[in-house]
Amino acid sequence: MATVELVGVRKHFGSVRAVDGVDLTAQEGEFLVLLGPSGCGKTTLLRMIAGLERPTAGEIRFDGQVVNHLPPRARRVAMVFQSYALYPHMSVFDNIAFPLRAVRMPRERLRERVEWAAKMFGIAHLLQRKPRELSGGERQRVALARAMVREPTVFLLDEPLSNLDAKLRASARDELKGLQRRIGITTIYVTHDQVEALGMGDRIVVMNQGRVQQVGTPQEVYEQPANTFVATFLGSPPMNLLHHPRAGVVIGFRPEHFLPKEVQARDHAEADLVTFPFRVKRVEYLGADRLLYGTIEGPELQEKTAIIAKLPFTMPVAVGPGEVGPFAVPRRALCFFDPETGERVAEPPRPLSALGLERGEPPGTGGS
Ligand code: ATP
Repeated sequence: MATVELVGVRKHFGSVRAVDGVDLTAQEGEFLVLLGPSGCGKTTLLRMIAGLERPTAGEIRFDGQVVNHLPPRARRVAMVFQSYALYPHMSVFDNIAFPLRAVRMPRERLRERVEWAAKMFGIAHLLQRKPRELSGGERQRVALARAMVREPTVFLLDEPLSNLDAKLRASARDELKGLQRRIGITTIYVTHDQVEALGMGDRIVVMNQGRVQQVGTPQEVYEQPANTFVATFLGSPPMNLLHHPRAGVVIGFRPEHFLPKEVQARDHAEADLVTFPFRVKRVEYLGADRLLYGTIEGPELQEKTAIIAKLPFTMPVAVGPGEVGPFAVPRRALCFFDPETGERVAEPPRPLSALGLERGEPPGTGGS
């Protein structure tokens, strides 16, 4: 196990700033997830930690020691990519044993290590099979066992589950997380899938355009996004954003907090709710939930703002397509952002009462 520390790390490919100044620490035993859209620099960052890519600037430290100059093998990292390749002509045993043979481990010890790794991933009964005789999930586990067999101090995973079908992914996620907990190895996991990130990470590093946008627990990045990028990258559908020019603030709230007022009034005092007139355009059925697509209109708003409400299927919709009805958000579920920088601010520069919002009136009808 090790701590992994990045200090001012950059990687430029010509004019492309793939990684543009990253400071980050993965604590010993931590499961750290790098999350961000395609091209944001996740893989490049992981490859620099592995030693497959040299930083243009900055330091990479393992347990406080700078490793920039060390080749991958000397760093004792194990890496599994999305396109992990097993040797098709070799048995599962020989595939897992491959990295040990490369360092000429004695036979008895090698057998013990392979059996240990295979048992850990629940594939001990498959050791004599060839990769083509395995399911996708089993092949995935062979690749993970092969990476783990050398007892690395850091585990680096780049979208290792994306080749699996949805059902298998859920169980593989659960397995991988359980395994990481048991052995307590420092793990850095790259994904663009927020469900994976929220479900597996001890902490999530949200990246965009080569830079870290926020580091926090799943709950922190979801509930207290550092800026509008994080607010709208996480969540499905993403956070609603209302641009209030006169208030000088962007108001954000999650679709699951935007519910018919009569429903909210059961759990919240009137004074704790902020109400908007919601014009529903379309209702989408999603099994467990319903999404209501519509707009909030008001003289305070920059334009008709497209808004989504997410209602549990058991909740009455209250407003049909084409109708307008009062929808409300609990005051404490609101986020505020600076309209210029997009950064989160603790409070709006002008009190919400100036917009008539605090008294539960539609925007633009109250206050001065
Ligand atoms: P994805 O989720 O699509 O894999 P990513 O977040 O992992 O994306 P990277 O693969 O790290 O992104 O790429 C970051 C940026 O650097 C991209 O703009 C990419 O085109 C560029 N890039 C990556 N590798 C190279 C390279 N060897 N030469 C030039 N540009 C590169």
